[in-house]
Amino acid sequence: MAYITALTKNKQEWTPQYIKTLDEETCIGCGRCFKVCAHDVLAFEELDEDDSAKMFMKIANEGNCIGCQACGRTCSKKCFSFEPVTA
Ligand code: SF4
Ligand code: SF4
Repeated sequence: MAYITALTKNKQEWTPQYIKTLDEETCIGCGRCFKVCAHDVLAFEELDEDDSAKMFMKIANEGNCIGCQACGRTCSKKCFSFEPVTA
């Protein structure tokens, strides 16, 4: 099965690992992933609980992802999973 590949600046081929899932239950809403994603893939969401509100991250624009995995590297809670995409 052939996957989408990309090129580095010096023309080395690599296989992007695109965002697959974000575990909203585990997310603590720290926003680190949001800061490092330059492609507007992620967005904050607010969940109203009894007498407080919880912030968490959600995938908002999945199709914008370039497969860099920067979001996953910043997440101390390991909320992300990634996958290559067939060409
Ligand atoms: S893999 Fe890269 S482009 Fe995709 S959501 Fe994460 S930081 Fe953004
Ligand atoms: S870095 Fe992880 S814990 Fe922090 S907001 Fe993003 S998904 Fe949630």
